Amino acid sequence: MNGHIVPVYLLDTSAATNAPEDQEITDFLYGGDDKYRFIQEVVLGVGGVEMLSKLNLRDIDHYHMNEGHSALLALRLTERLLAKNGHALPNTDDVAAVRRLCVFTTHTPVPAGHDQFPGSLVREVLGEHRTKLLFSTGFTGRDHLNMTHLALHHSNYVNGVAMKHGEVSREMFPEYRVKALTNGVHAGSWTSPEMAQLFDRDVPEWRHDNVYLRYGISIPLERIREAHQAAKQSLLAAIQEQLGVTLDPNVYTVGFARRATGYKRAGLFMSEPDRLRKIAKNAGPIQIVYGGKAHPRDEEGKRNIEEIYASAKELQDTVKLVYLPNYDWRWGALITSGVDLWLNTPIVTREASGTSGMKAALNGVPSLSTLDGWWIEGHLEGLTGWSIEGDRDLAEADSMYTKLEKVILPMYYNKPLEYAAVMRNAIALNGSFFNTQRMLLQYVFNAYSGRGPKVF
Ligand SMILES: *Cc1c(COP(=O)(O)O)cnc(C)c1O
Repeated sequence: MNGHIVPVYLLDTSAATNAPEDQEITDFLYGGDDKYRFIQEVVLGVGGVEMLSKLNLRDIDHYHMNEGHSALLALRLTERLLAKNGHALPNTDDVAAVRRLCVFTTHTPVPAGHDQFPGSLVREVLGEHRTKLLFSTGFTGRDHLNMTHLALHHSNYVNGVAMKHGEVSREMFPEYRVKALTNGVHAGSWTSPEMAQLFDRDVPEWRHDNVYLRYGISIPLERIREAHQAAKQSLLAAIQEQLGVTLDPNVYTVGFARRATGYKRAGLFMSEPDRLRKIAKNAGPIQIVYGGKAHPRDEEGKRNIEEIYASAKELQDTVKLVYLPNYDWRWGALITSGVDLWLNTPIVTREASGTSGMKAALNGVPSLSTLDGWWIEGHLEGLTGWSIEGDRDLAEADSMYTKLEKVILPMYYNKPLEYAAVMRNAIALNGSFFNTQRMLLQYVFNAYSGRGPKVF
């Protein structure tokens, strides 16, 4: 916008001057053992601080750690501080000084999702001296290294990525002061060209200041419908071209796409095929677009995808289902802007934030979702979308099907302008807020204020 470039540095160990086995440290992200992972995190944390120093970037006010993977940067900052003040081991003032430099954002609401390494491995990789220094900074954990605890202990500002996630994180780490700052998505990147054209016309300031999307509330409903219908055509054309499947632009289209993993329950929507058939018959036709890949080691996630394929076969007579192969950013943008309803069914408390529903909101696509993550904040029943409520999983399925049959489909097919008003609210109330511009400003106000000591 104002010509500022945000540099991104990628660390790569495949330099000829490294030992052959060290050249492979950054070869792959998943699939290595604990030791491979730990060494990667040493490269990121310790190597990262060294790299910034070698680049002469000495005027750094804050180091922001996303998840614990980079937490060993606290070790390197401590070492540098000690080299400067001549202390052999850090005292509480030294730890406090490093803390003033660090910000930590946790993204994972379950303990199993946090990296941990046994003390023996830490000693093997870091050596006795460094290990002693590391544990002398006083974070919890005697003989194992929990990267999240290391990051928590060394940060002045700690946050979860939605209000609810802040609460869940405080329960997980009661000894720390954990705040919450809700995620956002980049509006310029995730708004479809069709919808962007409408915004450019009616609220042109939105591109440099996303707050102006608030004034989308006065865009005529017919225009919202037209722009969305054009975005829907783009999605359907891409599906036609890549999969050879023809979907009907006049049929209510439900979208679900994200990483395939157990807690997101991709199959919940398909869990009662007979009920879906009945809904389609009574309230109006439905078609569904699915997408999402499983982590190579996530067997449950892979099973979920197989189950959806099986349901697709079973339902083919009444409800058309498409599974996008190779779900990526391009499909992500097409599907979150091109469907009529964005479905999300995470087990409550398990979705730290969720971001795809924010992309949908920017494009005037309302959500139908369990009340978790960002949706607790973005949900106004019948105004920005709809909630799925009740106990797991049967009552939730019932809530989802009932709303679809009694509220959502009747509104879409019988009162299209009422439906367009929900779409418009999604833009004006949620698109204007759940974006990276607001998020970044909040980090500036809450996390990046104040100045730490110079350690270089
Ligand atoms: C936005 C996006 C995601 C994240 O979706 P969530 O709902 O936050 O899980 C995953 N993959 C792709 C390709 C995306 O665009």
